[in-house]
Amino acid sequence: KYAELANAGVHEQPVYQPGKPIEYVAQEFGLDPALIAKLASNENPFGPSPKAMAAAQTALRTAHLYPDGNCCQLRAAIAQARGIGEDALIIGNGSNEIIELLGHAFLRPGVEVVMGDQAFIVYKLITKLFGATPVEVPMQDFGHDLSAMRAAVTDQTRLVFVASPNNPTGVANTEADLIELTESLPAHVILCLDEAYAEYLERAPDLRAQMAAGCKVFCMRTFSKIYGLGGLRVGYGYGAPELIQLLQRVRQPFNVNAIAQVAASAALTDHEFVNKCRTANEAGRAQLVAGLEALGNATVGGQANFVLANVGDGGAFFQALQQRGLIVRPLAPYGMPAFVRITIGTEAENQRLLAAARELAQSQG
Ligand code: PMP
Repeated sequence: KYAELANAGVHEQPVYQPGKPIEYVAQEFGLDPALIAKLASNENPFGPSPKAMAAAQTALRTAHLYPDGNCCQLRAAIAQARGIGEDALIIGNGSNEIIELLGHAFLRPGVEVVMGDQAFIVYKLITKLFGATPVEVPMQDFGHDLSAMRAAVTDQTRLVFVASPNNPTGVANTEADLIELTESLPAHVILCLDEAYAEYLERAPDLRAQMAAGCKVFCMRTFSKIYGLGGLRVGYGYGAPELIQLLQRVRQPFNVNAIAQVAASAALTDHEFVNKCRTANEAGRAQLVAGLEALGNATVGGQANFVLANVGDGGAFFQALQQRGLIVRPLAPYGMPAFVRITIGTEAENQRLLAAARELAQSQG
């Protein structure tokens, strides 16, 4: 009997349900894994950055050594690429870990965390993990309602999470609105701006001037999306050096593995790959939105690397597509049972998706 030994909070913790890996779906439906298109987790359909792959291969030769616990090279590379001080950066095992570090440093029972009710699910998981209270603010037209979020701040609030663009809705907030929010927050609240999809924007909002002026804003990015390194787990946060030092205290000594550090440094310099992915993503968005709308499915195009489609019954659509070797994400857990989230794939994958959606629409008359 272990259950009675566990802390009460453990029993209340929701279990994160990731999409099934390709191999499982292939086995379940008797399909060739090579023919499965995974359009469920907003991964990069073009694979990893080639520069990152080459660097990772070389780094394997020293895989017997512990990684650099301070991620010196990678922090220097990001500092240079982004014009951020090295002391203003912390690297994590994916940006998910960075969110957890915020929990270690700032959350406890009695503390409130403001977030959108259709925001990235990990904000709520981490808030609950630390016994703090999620305050979920209704989203407006699939985007964060920043004035309602500001109004939800109390004396107990410590963190406000805004993902821009948001996952799963894809909608971004404007730079002006984000600046207004950060400047209006009281001194006991940190705005945590999640920029996981920022590289897909034509120009990402920049709050570094507000950061330098003393506003409590902390930003997070990842190598899992446009850089194509989701499997290596590496992301980073940047903010005031004083905040970064607090987060450094609560992380594991070797939180980012050596291969990931080297690959991420290389990926940052792979401008050709990033530009190719951004351009293809925009073309793919147009392709999917036009194709789905033509079938009568309302879409939310968003500004990230996925689109939403109202397919009537998201769960049934997901099941039917899975049998055809296409994995998408049903959005019932986000309170959107009519919707699926579809990662923008290669042109051929998008075509397959649209062909399957057409077939389904026809079979339903
Ligand atoms: N934030 C958002 C908004 C995301 O969509 C994701 C990935 N799904 C993450 C953070 C986490 O990314 P990772 O841990 O892979 O860096």
